[in-house]
Amino acid sequence: MTTIEANIAPEFEPDDSLVDMSNQIRRVIQSSNRIVAFTGAGISAESGIPTYRGAGGVWTKYDPSKYASIEYFNRDPSYYWQFFKDVRHDLIADANPNLAHQALSKLEHDGRLRAIITQNIDGLHQNAGSKRVLELHGNTRRFYCMDCKAKYSLDEAWDMVMNELPPLCKNCHGIIRPDVVLFGEMLPYKTVEEAEFEASNCDLMLVIGSSLVVYPAAYLPETALMNGAKVVIINVDPTPLDAKATMCFHVEAGNLLAQTVWS
Ligand code: NAD
Ligand code: ZN
Repeated sequence: MTTIEANIAPEFEPDDSLVDMSNQIRRVIQSSNRIVAFTGAGISAESGIPTYRGAGGVWTKYDPSKYASIEYFNRDPSYYWQFFKDVRHDLIADANPNLAHQALSKLEHDGRLRAIITQNIDGLHQNAGSKRVLELHGNTRRFYCMDCKAKYSLDEAWDMVMNELPPLCKNCHGIIRPDVVLFGEMLPYKTVEEAEFEASNCDLMLVIGSSLVVYPAAYLPETALMNGAKVVIINVDPTPLDAKATMCFHVEAGNLLAQTVWS
């Protein structure tokens, strides 16, 4: 895992086919004052973390309706922890931020981006140096005891699953769970409130790598539009909001954002 300095330009190959698109995005950024980003799984695809939807977006061996559901977790917490041991830990621990995460970090560093609202649980925005990251669905690098709420890190969880599944709290023997919002759970109230404030008050929202079909998160770009903000979508596949967006680019986000920010 690498943490990256926001002010160091990464190496990338400028791509002629992206010049026009990056110019358009740069112009809209330059003419806006209150910019926020809304990101989804697609922004981390170039870091090697599979998305749920879009090409290559399936984790076949484990069923998300089981490892990502609170009802199933309560019934059989070992299923989540087996998935963590076999798949999730290495995916998360080995992933590094890509050009898209770095470009957003640079925009914040330069005082151009107020916040990133993310559906992602991988922590890669923070590893790219971003400071104000509103995590709607939690973070899969953090864990806590369901009984006494003691906190555990990714490394601690990894050590514990070597001994027992599910891992049990060192203080009270409660079951340890990931600090993520599982299907069937409420989103963190304060974070949602802050995200709604940012979505309602921005004049530009950059929507990156989200299919915009997971609610309630997908209301936020709609909120931005309803409040008169410009919305720029960068997503490989079409989204339900494309027709209403100010601009829409169906390409991978990494090079396009790097070229927008560093060319
Ligand atoms: P999604 O999986 O529904 O959609 C991802 C979208 O990203 C697709 O429409 C695809 O076309 C696009 N995409 C793929 N590669 C891209 C790239 N390089 N550049 C730009 N776009 C790209 O994602 P979602 O809308 O975030 O909803 C999925 C839910 O699953 C979220 O709630 C999220 O919490 C969770 N999830 C998170 C992660 C993560 O943290 N990295 C990964 C998978 C799923
Ligand atoms: Zn405990």
